[in-house]
Amino acid sequence: MTATATRVLVLNSGSSSVKYQLIDMNDGTRLAVGLVERIGEQTSRLAHTPLAAGGDKRETEGAIADHDAALKAVAAELAADGLGLDSPQLAAIGHRVVHGGLKFTEPTVIDDAVLTEIERLVPVAPLHNPANITGIRTAQAMRPDLPQVAVFDTAFHATMPEYAARYAIDVETADAHRIRRYGFHGTSHAYVSRKTAALLGKDPSEVNVIVLHLGNGASASAVAGGRCVDTSMGLTPLEGLVMGTRSGDVDPAVTFHLKRVAGMSTDEIDVLLNKKSGLIGLCGDNDMREIRRRIDEGDERARLAFDIYIHRLKKYIGAYSAVLGRVDAVAFTAGVGENAAPVREAAVAGLEEMGMAVDASLNAVRSDEPRLISPEYARVAVAVVPTDEELEIAQQTYALVNA
Ligand code: AMP
Repeated sequence: MTATATRVLVLNSGSSSVKYQLIDMNDGTRLAVGLVERIGEQTSRLAHTPLAAGGDKRETEGAIADHDAALKAVAAELAADGLGLDSPQLAAIGHRVVHGGLKFTEPTVIDDAVLTEIERLVPVAPLHNPANITGIRTAQAMRPDLPQVAVFDTAFHATMPEYAARYAIDVETADAHRIRRYGFHGTSHAYVSRKTAALLGKDPSEVNVIVLHLGNGASASAVAGGRCVDTSMGLTPLEGLVMGTRSGDVDPAVTFHLKRVAGMSTDEIDVLLNKKSGLIGLCGDNDMREIRRRIDEGDERARLAFDIYIHRLKKYIGAYSAVLGRVDAVAFTAGVGENAAPVREAAVAGLEEMGMAVDASLNAVRSDEPRLISPEYARVAVAVVPTDEELEIAQQTYALVNA
């Protein structure tokens, strides 16, 4: 890395998509952002916005066969703006890796041994880790000399005490198959809990925060003095809150029942609970905007889906209040948490005895900035704190390669 290398490329490779951002670490400026979608289909799409060049979004459609081709197309877009991967200003590439298991609790420079270990974790993250690995391999082939760093979604939750991380199942069976609660969305929970402390004018070590990351995937975490002590996702991102397409918590016996009584296969049950449940399973829509629109028109199914979503959220706020003992702040983040005022209002409604309330006019404000939405008299600060997982990955990556 040269002294002038201050840029980090962040790659978030999903099963059929790659999101990327090129960030200048001097001040966190986004130089370029983009997304490749529908990889492997005839109708793949690349949307690239060269922010540094002040250019408009460029969109290209057409088949992109695999992640290798996708990253090459991204590299070509960046090169067209003079921001190519061969630039000496590029310090590192930071990869979001979903599952780090027990081994990876910190951002890690990727070498062959690290890649092998990420591969060993595929059975516990079959939907995510393979795409992350492909992204890493392709990026390595393009710039073999450049440090590539893995930032794990699970890492922030590694501080959970054993009694929160362990399921109450037979210890030998659990350990033989690495079955325990790992938690996900860790970069978001880390970033948002720190930002919430800053919003309160405190050091993270001084505050207890409940973070509600409500996007299409959703998770809650209890963060005591900057350390995660519990989180709602478990072995996989299926556990916990009601999500866009995932059920969240269900009695595990539902799966035996589906197998024995409904005759479904394990794969069918997997698809049912991960892709056809949650809000979409309950009412046919997983976009909160659409659900609110239907509720306004008197749609009963949308109403019930919303009520189930809120009820689960409230249960986690209550549970994590008990886990933390003292709550200083509840922070809403991600697509739903940042934008859906009715969700924030309903989740906190009736919790005045717990010191939590939402001020209607503050809650109605739209902004990209972290902000308080609780009335002054409330004992617990309720906040909206936009997440920025890419910046967090870039910062962790940059800090590691400069250490
Ligand atoms: P994320 O996974 O964080 O990108 O969040 C995506 C989800 O955020 C979408 O599926 C919507 O449900 C929700 N969302 C985005 N914008 C809004 C909005 N303006 N109002 C309500 N929900 C929104």
